[in-house]
Amino acid sequence: MIYLKTREEIELMRHSALMVSRTLGIIAAHVRPGVTPLHLDKLAETFIRDNGGIPAFKGYKGGRGAPDFPATLCISINEAVVHGIPTNKPLVEGDIISVDCGVKKNGYYGDHAYTFAVGQIKPEVQKLIDVTKQSLYLGIEQMISGNRIGDISYAIQQHAEANGYGVVRELVGHGLGKNLHEEPEVPNYGKRGDGPKLKEGMVLAIEPMINMGKKAVKHLNDGWTIVTQDGLPSAHFEHDVAIVDGKPEILSSYTYIEEALALVNY
Ligand code: MG
Ligand code: MG
Repeated sequence: MIYLKTREEIELMRHSALMVSRTLGIIAAHVRPGVTPLHLDKLAETFIRDNGGIPAFKGYKGGRGAPDFPATLCISINEAVVHGIPTNKPLVEGDIISVDCGVKKNGYYGDHAYTFAVGQIKPEVQKLIDVTKQSLYLGIEQMISGNRIGDISYAIQQHAEANGYGVVRELVGHGLGKNLHEEPEVPNYGKRGDGPKLKEGMVLAIEPMINMGKKAVKHLNDGWTIVTQDGLPSAHFEHDVAIVDGKPEILSSYTYIEEALALVNY
């Protein structure tokens, strides 16, 4: 069942999404060589709780006998695609880290992600990050009433594959609302005109996960981390988007991140 949201609900969801955006802005100001993912996680949890939110991933039930997720952020480094558990191993110059964060506030979820460079990174890795972010926005452009989920999926896949990258199949975007994961699924691959029709009031978390090499992934034995099978890096960007007046309205924002990065790199 796909839950369509009222304008009031969409405003509450914008509030939750922007709390995640502000959290990621704080992370942006602290990502550098030598910092530990656990330190970033602590900053995020403190900020969210201080602002009356609940970290949505902490305690999330693991499937297949995995433990509950132990942290506020998923921090996935280099060949890790998503669902990485923050550790106390310091970040190293040249790493990339995909940071995914979920918040529940006023009964509604925000869920949003960004891939950061740690210091200087190789140009080919920067290109992977750039193309993954572009593919997110190309997907969002398709989020128009009357289009179908497959139109979003196709736009993302086309751009990633045109650049020679692998599109992860096992993990998908999703509806978002009073639940962290709602129908419909939003695959990052697919055919135009396929899948459920897009309607006014739909809110989707669109989240391309794009591999520099092949699309195949595997689980690490921590029960959570997904990594590329070929060991090449992967990037992940996610926005929360509503259909308002027939058109996409992005509820989350990268402005906080961009402002923080501009200061760090000044
Ligand atoms: Mg997410
Ligand atoms: Mg998500």
